[in-house]
Amino acid sequence: MNASNKNVINVTPLKASEYFNGIISGNRVSLSRAITLIESSLEKHQAMARELVELCLPYSGNSIRIGITGAPGAGKSTFIDSFGSYLTSHNKKVAVLAIDPSSSKAKGSILGDKTRMDRLAIDPSAFIRPSPSSGSLGGVAKTTRETIILCEAAGFDFIIVETVGVGQSEIAVHSMVDFFLLIMIAGAGDELQGIKRGIMEMADAIAINKADGDNLTKAKAARAEFSHALHLFPPSESGWVPRVETCSALSDMGIDNIWKIIEEHHLAAVTKGYFDFNREQQSIFWMYDTITENLKSSFFNQQKIKDALPLFERKIKDKTISSYAAAVELLELFKNRK
Ligand code: GDP
Repeated sequence: MNASNKNVINVTPLKASEYFNGIISGNRVSLSRAITLIESSLEKHQAMARELVELCLPYSGNSIRIGITGAPGAGKSTFIDSFGSYLTSHNKKVAVLAIDPSSSKAKGSILGDKTRMDRLAIDPSAFIRPSPSSGSLGGVAKTTRETIILCEAAGFDFIIVETVGVGQSEIAVHSMVDFFLLIMIAGAGDELQGIKRGIMEMADAIAINKADGDNLTKAKAARAEFSHALHLFPPSESGWVPRVETCSALSDMGIDNIWKIIEEHHLAAVTKGYFDFNREQQSIFWMYDTITENLKSSFFNQQKIKDALPLFERKIKDKTISSYAAAVELLELFKNRK
């Protein structure tokens, strides 16, 4: 045994049904290991993961899924720690997942440092799972959706999916949750906070965080401003009018009001039939998305295509072929694969 592998723990691989039994009996170790299985790119793990997800599917769907986004430093982790603790103090079980495809390039996983959620990290009713440390957005999104299913089968009442509000990942998270919460702070313009209008339009609520101390007045003013801005957006498909609240995650203030908004939204969505409709639409969206992703990766991973691409790039540069004709030829090459 050399130095590099002496820390590898040799664990006998389980069968999908064994993972499943562990998950539904609430065994955290089984759940963690099953998520690792889902995150693995090995084909044999993927096959087993698919089997496991199918087993869990009939036991899933019973949670409220909440997406949380906001610029770095807005207080997402502090908010999740406070909000999650509020829920667990009301006898609810909370799972926190992260979707952060940029993590491999940046400072590491956004939830990698568990101390950012001090209370939840030691709360027996909470489960925190850091983002996979690498992978494309498509890959991470797939993993997160499957992890949601596993966590629901494990009996979690709330699944919180955290993302950094600066890129494409919000759209992915928005497409897998029932409620989308944007966390902002007063005093920094939208530009400064890196929040695009599109993200604000997706929000079911905006929490103006850090509404404490000297910041309280500014936070209240920001609340009025954002409420006004949201009213200018076209109404959402569900008929829900987005809400704005102030809170201080650090001192647990206003957290109950955020919960009331989510509860109200949930009740309205269930009553109007929008809750199920939205989840069905999301499932259909993910089917198409999976097909597109699979087609794309089988195209770009085909050796013939890999070899031909530089050639076609050169031809385009030399203006001996148009981009369109190049694409058609490459697609023909792909379709005629042997
Ligand atoms: P994230 O990057 O969005 O996850 O932000 P963090 O939760 O890590 O918070 C960034 C900083 O803001 C930390 O120093 C927190 O202590 C601080 N912070 C978070 N919430 C509040 C709040 O409600 N009030 C104040 N005053 N500071 C806060």
